[in-house]
Amino acid sequence: MVFVNWFLDVWLPTKCLLCANPPRQLCEACQSLIATRPRLVSRPGLVGGVAAVDYRADAKALVHHLKVLGAGSVSKFMARHILDSLERLQVIEALRDLRGKAYLVPVPSRPEITRVRGFVPSVLLARRLARCLRETGVVAQVKPIARLGRQVRDQAGLNRQEREENLNGAMRATGPATPEDSQVPVWLVDDVITTGASLRELQRCLLGAGWNVQGFVTFAETL
Ligand SMILES: [Zn+2]
Repeated sequence: MVFVNWFLDVWLPTKCLLCANPPRQLCEACQSLIATRPRLVSRPGLVGGVAAVDYRADAKALVHHLKVLGAGSVSKFMARHILDSLERLQVIEALRDLRGKAYLVPVPSRPEITRVRGFVPSVLLARRLARCLRETGVVAQVKPIARLGRQVRDQAGLNRQEREENLNGAMRATGPATPEDSQVPVWLVDDVITTGASLRELQRCLLGAGWNVQGFVTFAETL
């Protein structure tokens, strides 16, 4: 593996997505510029949640690279920051049940976008976060159990009310929770929270199908 990495560095040098300098997709200097500011986040009608950073400048660029490239180094960086926030805010215990189990449910993307991209950004983030959580003893499992049941517009550029109307009733759970599943805490996962419309709609459809929604986590929060 070391040899493979060396080979890739020498023959296929990578540039930082933020400053364009080699040798990594996300260099240490840029990583250190993005300050973690863990905070509890609340939005009307939505369970409480946690965000790691403000949605500004470099964080914005990272979210863009996650959405467009599905960059592994970016999802890893975001997941580490979310985990760090959960630990610093001391909510990691609330994440799991007595057996240490927790489900992470990523916010679904529009199918027409997924067809073009070939991946769902929030799923990549949830997978990385599950991996990080497992290192701390939480038996985290990613459950992509919601989809968009009708066509919706891109939320970007819509105002608060339009965002709400755009998504209202749009998501469907792929199935009801079994009695055992319904006991496991569910945490919703997205890269950014703005008005909370997507997370609220995801919460609505999961609660309707008997899932035990306990909170949400996002990398960034728009203020
Ligand atoms: Zn850089």
